[in-house]
Amino acid sequence: MLLLTIDERSPQPIYQQIIAGVRDMIAGRVLLPGEKLPSTRRLADQLAIHRSTVATAYQELWALGFIDLSPGSCPRVRDRMQMATAADSGEKGLIDWQAAASPAAAALWQAHRRLAPSAGREAAPAVISFASLDMDRRLFPLESFRACLDRALKNHGDALLGYGARAGFPPLREYLARRLQSHGIAVTADEILITNGSQHGLDLVFRMLAAPGRAVAVESPTYNYIFPLLRFYGLKPVEIPLREGGMDLDALAATLAGERPALVYTMPTFQNPTGITTGQAHRERLLSLCEAHRIPILEDGFEEEMKYSGRVVLPVKSMDKRHLVIYCGTFSKVLFPGVRIGWLAAERECVERLVAIHRFSEIAPSTILQAAIHEFCHSGHYDRHIGKMHRAYRKRMQATVRALHRHIAPEWAEWTEPSGGFLIWLRLKPPPRPPADWQALLAVHGVEAATGAGFFCGETPGTYLRLSISPLDETEISDGIRRLAAALREAYTPG
Ligand code: PMP
Repeated sequence: MLLLTIDERSPQPIYQQIIAGVRDMIAGRVLLPGEKLPSTRRLADQLAIHRSTVATAYQELWALGFIDLSPGSCPRVRDRMQMATAADSGEKGLIDWQAAASPAAAALWQAHRRLAPSAGREAAPAVISFASLDMDRRLFPLESFRACLDRALKNHGDALLGYGARAGFPPLREYLARRLQSHGIAVTADEILITNGSQHGLDLVFRMLAAPGRAVAVESPTYNYIFPLLRFYGLKPVEIPLREGGMDLDALAATLAGERPALVYTMPTFQNPTGITTGQAHRERLLSLCEAHRIPILEDGFEEEMKYSGRVVLPVKSMDKRHLVIYCGTFSKVLFPGVRIGWLAAERECVERLVAIHRFSEIAPSTILQAAIHEFCHSGHYDRHIGKMHRAYRKRMQATVRALHRHIAPEWAEWTEPSGGFLIWLRLKPPPRPPADWQALLAVHGVEAATGAGFFCGETPGTYLRLSISPLDETEISDGIRRLAAALREAYTPG
């Protein structure tokens, strides 16, 4: 007998009470897999209700996957546990997802697995990590952002809860157009598209250009998320060597004269991974080369606002009279990455095409967050925050450079000294006792850094370490450099 009770005064229909009762008994293992339930007639008699009510409840329980029904026999509890534990026990499902995924997605999965150990993982507390470009949470303007989020909802109300404008929240686009003007970039709001972070902006541009086998010219080394993404879209990276002053423009000229790349991707300011900033003359020549060949430039200004010492050099986009530059910006590297807001600024014709791609994948960026960010910028918090970040990182970068000079011998390595941003690139000289695995050697000394792998398209031509100071304060930095020096001493002391 099934110990079900029915409450006739309950607003819940009787058939639903039966469903809830049977589900509870299955969950509580009062009813076990394979166990028989009473026939519709018996349960109807027992509960003094109509037989069709029980039949409705059983139909629903079957549809939800709780019981099996077969004509002429009593319902039985379905073996759902077996389904759940198959996944828990690591038993293979029916589908081989690596084979089911397209070859491009399968390759992206491999790239993801290669990056996984350092990307997105927090280092163990005892380890000082220079590996991640994540931001220092201790500097997040949490309270003022919370107040802005609240004010945005109060001011705009339910208008923020719809899908919103496809190209982004109009007041934020207006604000960004004005802000870009302060960087010498003359664009209007309708030449701006808001994206979910600048990674999404880069992805949209690659998607717009993607056609199997098309070439894209990139600096070498470059941002390590670029190669897997280009390959995913069937685009072919063509590496242009990066020199001290920026991309080798003679090599670029030779490439442009040969195959016609669909795009030149560049980071003129605080390049990732090297921290290099190119000068005015380099920017002008890059632009005129691309103008001559009518090749678009994708300018990644991810750390544009993190210029905290030395002379400002205006973005390539600021000189772009012929509208071939697509400029990509982000709030991630000054404010916080969790808000996932970036932007693309380009000729309207181009923006409209990007909006179309955006529409059929992400539909529109989050209106609430855009409104909160707009409030944050509009009310002056953003400028105050930038001031605070500049003061903090000017000191942090100086501390890094000081510590490198003090602890790292010139026979071991040479490095870049950027005038902003978060990145320092160390080129290690061949050591007498090269470790089998640099990461493992650093880990023994309680420190982490990104090695050169991934920043080059193929083999890494040498040994490199990219130090990111974005999540670290001065004490952590000097401690970390001391640990790095201890690791290098081990490799460079003849055995
Ligand atoms: N460009 C570069 C060079 C980056 O290093 C990153 C992330 N670290 C991005 C773009 C993407 O950042 P986000 O999507 O957070 O704006």
